Amino acid sequence: MGVKTAMEWLSSCSGCEIAILNIGEDLIPIITEALDIVHAPVLMDHKYFGQTGEGLTLEIPEATIGIVSGGVANEEHIEVLEEMRKKCTILIALGTCATHGGIPALMNGQDRAQSWKEIYQTKTTDPGGEVPNVEVPAPLDRVYACDEKVKIDLQLPGCPPNPAHIAEVIFSLLEDRPPVLPGKSVCDTCPTKREGKGDVSKLRRFLTNAEFEPGEPIDEMRCLLEQGYLCMGPVTAAGCARNGAPSCIAARVPCRGCFGPVRGAGNQMLDMMNALASNGIDCSSVIDRRSMLRFSGAHGMLRPVKKMVVKED
Ligand code: SF4
Ligand code: SF4
Ligand code: SF4
Repeated sequence: MGVKTAMEWLSSCSGCEIAILNIGEDLIPIITEALDIVHAPVLMDHKYFGQTGEGLTLEIPEATIGIVSGGVANEEHIEVLEEMRKKCTILIALGTCATHGGIPALMNGQDRAQSWKEIYQTKTTDPGGEVPNVEVPAPLDRVYACDEKVKIDLQLPGCPPNPAHIAEVIFSLLEDRPPVLPGKSVCDTCPTKREGKGDVSKLRRFLTNAEFEPGEPIDEMRCLLEQGYLCMGPVTAAGCARNGAPSCIAARVPCRGCFGPVRGAGNQMLDMMNALASNGIDCSSVIDRRSMLRFSGAHGMLRPVKKMVVKED
C-alpha cells in the first residue's frame, strides 16, 4: 500500500494538476505503487459531507501527504484548507497561486465592489445583474496565499510548477530526504549573452520582437533586459528551465515572474525597481509597475490604489 495522499484545489485553474500529469512516465509508479490517493476532487468523486450528504461537517480523509493548489479567496477555501491541515501530516502548497496568491490575487489590486461589478455586471456578463449571494461561499476581504492561513511544510511555486520538481518533492518525501530544488533566480539559469550594464536607460513595452537571428542558439541572443525589455528574471525564483533555458526566454519572450520571488517573502516589484535603478534604468519608464506583482499579490503585497482626494480651496 502506498503513502496516503490527499489533494485539494482552492481558487485554481487546474493547471497545477495538469503539471502533475506532465510528470510523464514517472507518474505511473507514483500513482500505482508509491502513493495511495485517498482524496482528489480533480480525479475522483468524494463528497465533503458524506456520500448522501448525511455529514454535518466537512471531512477529508487522513493522509500523510497533502497537496493544495490555488489561492484562498472565499470562506469555503479556508474551511477546506484548514481541514487539509488537520488531516495531513505534511502539507505542500503547489503552484504560485497557493504559495504567493498567483493569478487570483490580481484581484487584490482593486476593491471588492469593483471586482464584483466587473465579474458579474459588465456588458459581456450580465448588465444590471445582481451579485449572487445565495449558496455562494462568502468572499474574503482579499485573496491569501495558503501559508497566510495555515502552516505549510513545503512551498513549490510555478505557474504551473515544473513537473520534474513535483516528482522530486514526492520522491524526497518517500525517501525521507530534503528535496533538491533550484534556489536561485531565473537569471542564474539563463544562458543569454550579458554584456554589462548596457546602454539602456528606459524600458520599452514588449510590443516588438526581441532582437535575434532566426535559428540562432539561445546563448547567442543578448539578454532581454539589456535589449530594453522588462524581464523579471533577476527577481524571480528559478525553476522553469528546461533544455538549458528558462521557458519564456527560450521562446524569446521576457520573464513575467510566474515562479514568484526568489526569497519566499520577497517583493518582486520593489526588488525589480532596485535592480533597475542600480543599473541606471529609469524606473518611471515602466508603464505599470504593479504588474510586477501579477503573480505574487498575496501577503499584502498588492493593495487597491487609494483614490486621491483633491482639496478645493
Ligand atoms: S499556479 Fe498557475 S497553473 Fe497553478 S492553479 Fe494557479 S494559475 Fe493555475
Ligand atoms: S534579465 Fe531575462 S534575459 Fe536577461 S539574463 Fe535575466 S532572465 Fe535572461
Ligand atoms: S521565464 Fe519567468 S514567466 Fe516564464 S515560465 Fe519562467 S519564471 Fe515563469
